[in-house]
Amino acid sequence: MAAAYIGIGSNLDDPAGQVRSAITALGQLPDTSVTAVSSLYRSRPVGPQDQPDFTNAVVRLETALSAFTLLRHMQSIEDKHGRRRDGQRWGPRTLDLDLLLFGDQRIAAPDLQVPHPEMTRRGFVLRPLVEIDPEANIPGTGPARAVLEGLDTTDLVRLD
Ligand code: ATP
Ligand code: CA
Ligand code: CA
Repeated sequence: MAAAYIGIGSNLDDPAGQVRSAITALGQLPDTSVTAVSSLYRSRPVGPQDQPDFTNAVVRLETALSAFTLLRHMQSIEDKHGRRRDGQRWGPRTLDLDLLLFGDQRIAAPDLQVPHPEMTRRGFVLRPLVEIDPEANIPGTGPARAVLEGLDTTDLVRLD
């Protein structure tokens, strides 16, 4: 079994509802349970600014799946939530699921990099991660909390 952390984001079609539905779907994956769920957060988009704000959360799973099998399941959940893969990088989307951490593994495959390479730059990832696991460690980097302290998170809002 491994602890896996997944970053969830949505900025289309009832983002908070998309995030909650994704958490339910992750909990229904085989040999997997959800062991922690962060608050929801509102963040400004990465990349193109002419799109709605994002709603974000992070969940921790306990899973017997491999990281690659988990990624395939995550992509299938994205597809079921109407995710379109039509080009624009960092464009608006109904659901984005990023595998942030997978145990203490470091993976550098063409289709899967873990830890997620952008997570150390993103308050909307690190703040919910540290909320559910204050001692979270990013393999190759160090404590998530220390990285978060160096980021500007003024645009990040925790929702009730
Ligand atoms: P970013 O990765 O910067 O957050 P994005 O989420 O918009 O950008 P996507 O279009 O969702 O990027 O994903 C592109 C590809 O990233 C996917 O096809 C997937 O194979 C690959 N990928 C590599 N590492 C990961 C990871 N840790 N989690 C999810 N996808 C990953
Ligand atoms: Ca992403
Ligand atoms: Ca993604």
